Amino acid sequence: MSHPIRPGATLGLLGGGQLGRMFTLAARNLGFRVHALDPGHDCPAGQVADFEVRAHYNDVYAAQALARGVDVMTVEFENIPSSTLEAVAELRPMHPSAFVVHTVQHRLREKRFLAEHGFPVTPFREINTEADLQAAVAQLGLPAVLKTASFGYDGKGQQKLDATTDLGVAFRALAGQQGILEAWVPFELECSVICARSSCGESAVWPVAENAHVRHILDTTVMPARISSEIALTAQSMALRIAEALEVVGILTVEFFIMADGELQVNELAPRPHNSGHATIDASITSQFEQQVRAVCGLPLGATALLKPAAMANLLGELWPKDGEPAWERLLAFPEVKLHLYGKTEARPGRKMGHLTALGDTAQEALDLVLEARAVLSD
Ligand code: AMP
Repeated sequence: MSHPIRPGATLGLLGGGQLGRMFTLAARNLGFRVHALDPGHDCPAGQVADFEVRAHYNDVYAAQALARGVDVMTVEFENIPSSTLEAVAELRPMHPSAFVVHTVQHRLREKRFLAEHGFPVTPFREINTEADLQAAVAQLGLPAVLKTASFGYDGKGQQKLDATTDLGVAFRALAGQQGILEAWVPFELECSVICARSSCGESAVWPVAENAHVRHILDTTVMPARISSEIALTAQSMALRIAEALEVVGILTVEFFIMADGELQVNELAPRPHNSGHATIDASITSQFEQQVRAVCGLPLGATALLKPAAMANLLGELWPKDGEPAWERLLAFPEVKLHLYGKTEARPGRKMGHLTALGDTAQEALDLVLEARAVLSD
């Protein structure tokens, strides 16, 4: 192995939300220091990092100044301009690379990359004009989903189109941004695979996660997914091949739609730990966050085996009363449920404030337990 970055070194992080916070906590457990850059005040990662820089992601000078004080740079989310990532990469190793982040931060680039490398993706069309949208609807049929090509997550910038939709209104809602029209996928189940690839080329993959969304936002995940071992192996091997094709160093999450006949379609990629992998903190030998540290530092990867089947339930802002905090003592009365809060002071509907994890003898038992525990907060 060539020059691993060892504990005691300092890691630089672009993005300071909850993913960055959990990365930072894992890095600190391993004896690293973390410097984080985020545009917000009192960001979740900054609260636990050694050093926090408040700057916009397009502030190349701030990012370079941060890079000069660290040994390796990584990201907690993909909406960081390529110019910033390239500038940082001139000074320090940057994992994942600007190429990886640039490819997956734009739905058209991401889907084209996947299709060109032979991976199955949802049929799609590029939308720049209202005429493009009319033609795409004629080709792909309705229902369909119109999304902004960039900056979409948790259903933001997405519209479901059906026979009653006024296409002119739908196009104008893109507000000048480039769009992508996707055929509606009548999937049976959504799942994701999180895998890791280190700077030495070593790779590792977790069991498949089974995901349920409410209003386009992840609500619960169970791990392992309740699918056949054949589908699970296909999904895991496809995720590893995508990571290889992109030459990812770090973590890659691949979201899949599973069709009634067991076929898989890739929905989207994230070059980082993912909400559907949060259970790995309490349920796996190595969490997705610890693995990100190991991978970007060129250290050997940790085992990804689950200790037991697990479930995760998100805690969104709507669970917060108008003034103050939920009655955490009622939740903590479930001695086997683990509570993770991200240190966000302002609770808004749909905002990810924390999550719960439970283990069980079966995935269903773990899911029942986290749901029962979460329900006491809204009683
Ligand atoms: P995305 O941000 O693309 O992951 O979309 C968020 C969620 O919307 C997905 O997890 C699906 O539940 C749903 N969704 C997105 N695209 C499609 C599609 N083409 N067909 C059906 N459901 C979709």
